Amino acid sequence: MPTETWTSASQPLPKRDVWQAMARGLRCRCPNCGEGKVFRAFLKVADNCSVCGQDFSGHRADDLPAYLVIVIVGHIIVPIALWIETDYAPSIALQLSVYLPVTLIMSLVLLQPVKGAVVGLQWAFRMHGFDESRPADVEEDAATLILVDRSGSVPKVLVGKRHDKVIFMPGKFVFPGGRVDATDNKIPVAAEIPKGLEKKLIGGSPKIAPARARALAVAAIREACEETGLCLGRKVARMNGAAAKLTGEWKPFAEAGLLPDPSGLFLIARAITPPGRVRRFDTRFFTADASSIAHRVEGVVHADAELVELVWVELGSLSLADLHQMTKMVLRELDKRLALGPLSHAAEVPFFHFYGGKMQRDVI
Ligand SMILES: [Zn+2]
Repeated sequence: MPTETWTSASQPLPKRDVWQAMARGLRCRCPNCGEGKVFRAFLKVADNCSVCGQDFSGHRADDLPAYLVIVIVGHIIVPIALWIETDYAPSIALQLSVYLPVTLIMSLVLLQPVKGAVVGLQWAFRMHGFDESRPADVEEDAATLILVDRSGSVPKVLVGKRHDKVIFMPGKFVFPGGRVDATDNKIPVAAEIPKGLEKKLIGGSPKIAPARARALAVAAIREACEETGLCLGRKVARMNGAAAKLTGEWKPFAEAGLLPDPSGLFLIARAITPPGRVRRFDTRFFTADASSIAHRVEGVVHADAELVELVWVELGSLSLADLHQMTKMVLRELDKRLALGPLSHAAEVPFFHFYGGKMQRDVI
């Protein structure tokens, strides 16, 4: 997860240029750096900027962009229609056959830039979730995936190397992961999560529902596919209606005839960011064997992408030394688990959280 979660940083709040932020938003670019993309799909705002790491999840654009587009298009089409009707009075059918498609096309073309500008405006004024002076009071569920290759004498883990030119954590090794998406529990899967895994996932505090446990496992698979192009799935003879639900980030699965398969995932640790942070995460660290990789999407990792390289690194190797403190603790847990033999859901899972200003290590 390319989000520094366990560090405390209280920055002064500099004034932001509203017009510049809106202009960048109009071009669908990050209001902060002007480079990264705001959208990951037509109207879906990305979680954060791939270039500077700016978190976009605080936006609350809701229906405002749609209303603005109606106002803008209305103020262009209606005067033109009145002027043409007054001066030329063409037939109604001809008028409709022009105005309707023009209105539709203009609306579709304007929606994305207008939404980008609204996000830019909210960012510049530090509205809603962009207000960094107010610490988060709820943790967001997140999932991280550590793929393991046990074919050699020392287990290797898969890390992605971030681009040297990004401002946020340049050149660093990261594991794929991110926030749980609202759609994650609606994605068709090849197999349900094992009961043993579900039991571990709903353990600890705060408690979660089984549906949320499933969403966490699915989120780990989705993030891995998005960031590394590796798909943990299973071939199915007939997709039936499932292919229609595997859109957006899930498209590679549909194209390869795969359903995401969370049955090979194991929980290694759960960790909650200390209180008082702007964003707080309740992260579940999953592992899966490299043999669960059923498909590889070409072109996700390349010299100009967010991740420039995927590397299998031996556990305990020096190149993992500058990983985040929490990530290193999780890798030590993984090392211990692998030493026990085949992975099992029955093993103890550490739960790191803060209580009374101190980090606690409970066991799930
Ligand atoms: Zn940016």
